[in-house]
Amino acid sequence: MKLIPYGHQLVDNNDIKAVVKVLKSNWITQGPTIKDFENTLCKYSGAKYALAVSSGTAALHIACLAAGLQSGNEVITSPITFLATANSVLYCNAKPVFADVQEDTVNIDPVEIRKKITKKTKAIIPVDFAGNLCDLENIYSIAKEHDFIVIEDAAHALGAENKGLKTGSCKYSDMTIFSFHPVKSVTTGEGGAVLTNRKDLYNKLIMLRSHGITKEGFMNKADGEWYYEMQLLGYNYRMTDIQAALGISQLKKLDSFVLRRREIAGIYNKAFRDNPYFDITSENKIKGSAHHLYVIRLKKEYWKRKNEIFLKMRKSGLGVQVHYAPVYLQPYYKKLGFKRGLCPLAEDFYRSAISIPLYPALKDVEIKYVIKNIFKVFKEI
Ligand SMILES: *Cc1c(COP(=O)(O)O)cnc(C)c1O
Repeated sequence: MKLIPYGHQLVDNNDIKAVVKVLKSNWITQGPTIKDFENTLCKYSGAKYALAVSSGTAALHIACLAAGLQSGNEVITSPITFLATANSVLYCNAKPVFADVQEDTVNIDPVEIRKKITKKTKAIIPVDFAGNLCDLENIYSIAKEHDFIVIEDAAHALGAENKGLKTGSCKYSDMTIFSFHPVKSVTTGEGGAVLTNRKDLYNKLIMLRSHGITKEGFMNKADGEWYYEMQLLGYNYRMTDIQAALGISQLKKLDSFVLRRREIAGIYNKAFRDNPYFDITSENKIKGSAHHLYVIRLKKEYWKRKNEIFLKMRKSGLGVQVHYAPVYLQPYYKKLGFKRGLCPLAEDFYRSAISIPLYPALKDVEIKYVIKNIFKVFKEI
């Protein structure tokens, strides 16, 4: 058997047809399919505005800029995330401040957020780890007490819901970002989006996506009809219509993808219950999760042997991964002055965590194979 990856896209013939249709049309970028994709995202999530961009990282970057982040500002975020979350703060010359996670959900702990607030704090970026929503209501109320901006990094969580609210509704965030990388809930190859209910932020985001250019508003039309104006330093973070067509087609299947992920998580939960080697952590069991990852956490006596276990799993055909080492332990962040010991629960999580295969296209025989081989690895060591 070849390596079963930890995550994988599911692209079918309808997706391919949708892409071909755009390729044969007049607009392969900057055309009407982008708007259709954005409208579909709004309809799905309940947000007023959606802006499609070239990646989740681009989405985070322009969300941080729209929030007004600059040198001298601090942004509180989770250490257990992909690098892009904290990097986007650095792009704006602001300082990421890491607040420790909750032991059970691995999401940023609102109690720890409060401890990290200073006069310089300007924003909070909570991350919905593994597809399971943060305590956003609580985080948002902390933010509003202090007039902070909340940018929800929901790269893992498209399709998740809580109390009838879909991720991206922005009820408890100023902006929510998604990624459409192939391992995420739905894919556009590369791609991302920023959602918001705030018109002021949306207007800024539109400009930041495309060179800071606007054709609307208070500009001087004296030159003539061709006139456009650059009002701030933007980027080319546009998505193509080719990608947007794939995105629209994929979104049609989002709910069925999430259902399949939930079903697989349920099978794992049952198979792994009360085993002597590792814990099936609560983030795998939370209702409404988008189940982006299935993380097992080694019992403490196995922490020292994690690499041996990891390698044996790989050898038996499981494309296991580790999500994530605390961001601040990366050499680049250490050079900025961050030190081991900053977030003890995040560091313990890293010592124990292994992500095992979970994606909608995973077949029943493959699920059985994964379960059988995981137990085999532990029995052999
Ligand atoms: C994937 C991911 C991103 C970045 O998305 P890209 O589309 O790969 O740029 C940001 N944050 C988290 C938590 C992610 O998992």
